[in-house]
Amino acid sequence: MFTSFPYNHSPVFIQNLLISLRSIIRKTLRENNVQLKFLNEIQKNEFDISRLISFSNNRLNYTLAQANNNVPFYKHLNLDSRSKLHSFPFINKFDIRDRMEDFLADNHKGIAISGATSGTTGAPLIIKQNMESVIREQAFVARHLKWAGFVQGDKRAWIRGDMIVPLEQKNGAFWRYSWFENMIMLSSFHMSPNNLQSYIDAMVEYGVQVIQAYPSSILTLAKHLETNDLYYPSDLKSIVTSSESLSLEDKQLIERRFGCTVYDWYGLFERVAAIGSCEHGRYHILTDYSHVELEDVGDGRHEIIGTNFNNELQPLIRYRTGDHVYLSDETSCPCGRVFPIIDRIDGRIGDYLIGEDGQKVHILNHIPKGVKGLIATQFKQDHPNQIEVQAVVNAQVFDKQQERILIDNTKARLGRSMDVFITIVDKIQKTKNGKTRQAICTL
Ligand SMILES: [Zn+2]
Repeated sequence: MFTSFPYNHSPVFIQNLLISLRSIIRKTLRENNVQLKFLNEIQKNEFDISRLISFSNNRLNYTLAQANNNVPFYKHLNLDSRSKLHSFPFINKFDIRDRMEDFLADNHKGIAISGATSGTTGAPLIIKQNMESVIREQAFVARHLKWAGFVQGDKRAWIRGDMIVPLEQKNGAFWRYSWFENMIMLSSFHMSPNNLQSYIDAMVEYGVQVIQAYPSSILTLAKHLETNDLYYPSDLKSIVTSSESLSLEDKQLIERRFGCTVYDWYGLFERVAAIGSCEHGRYHILTDYSHVELEDVGDGRHEIIGTNFNNELQPLIRYRTGDHVYLSDETSCPCGRVFPIIDRIDGRIGDYLIGEDGQKVHILNHIPKGVKGLIATQFKQDHPNQIEVQAVVNAQVFDKQQERILIDNTKARLGRSMDVFITIVDKIQKTKNGKTRQAICTL
């Protein structure tokens, strides 16, 4: 919505109204009695190990049966109808991309909601969910928000990678209000050094109690406070982060400067794993959300392999995420919750580019979205106003028009004055430990 023409060309009051109306529609769809009932049910799992185990086993068995009986990919395997998890093969994103239809249940009724993953290599994967999956996801998110002390009606700030105002706007308020949610929504794309204090002031003035943010966005504000030897001048309950990796060092810096605990959440659009940190800073694997296997890949790292519990339309079993965690020696947490603990998540590398006003732009995931024939991308920046987009493409689909969309998407995030050009390559270079970086900025 935020990049649409009608939104961008409306006065501020109308933009606030549009944001608020959108939120009320989403709220009505997601936060209904079904969600509240489910939330109530999963809250009972937190401190009761036998209940947690039986809940999770039921969900796992149900998912395996659904796959065996109704999903073509699994039906063709001809497994015994009571097969246990270890009889199922591992799958990865390429299996799903190549055989999309085979992974969709043939007994599905109702609406199917499509969404794209934000692959770090810029090759999004389409995942379909039913409405129940969306509602359940919200319930798990709501449970984690409760860990962070949030209660209905609290005033929130939202700095989560949305371009709340157009990039062409260089002055004035870089935020809008979602009235029915008691929320101030701030742009992640206007955070140039000169603007940062106005973000802090706007949140203080609104009386924000909980901040929901991308790690890169809240870290930018924390560093601004640190550079100026300042602390957030008002009381906050908590900060909730997700969608990017957060190092312990950065987490501590944010906590120090904002004077509250950061509750970090790891999840992915495939919905095969969720990990949430608690008030004691421990990362808990939410074993009632999905079934997680951790496979030793050396160097102390373990790959997350997950089986989703909440999407009957596209049950993914033993899905290799490519994400890694480090195990913990601890078997229990002072918070008392019975979910297993891991030490930390070996996250995606926090890459960024420098935009036309000297601002760091971390949110690059959306740039490849909507570009057809794109297999992988990497952004390179060696000069202040120039970006090279290296692209691996399917040459039959990726034509001049797609090239223009890719350039336009890049400029929309970094500034119209940027010189953006595309280089077609055979493959994207990987780092020493096999990761693909989104962007390499040498400035
Ligand atoms: Zn804990």
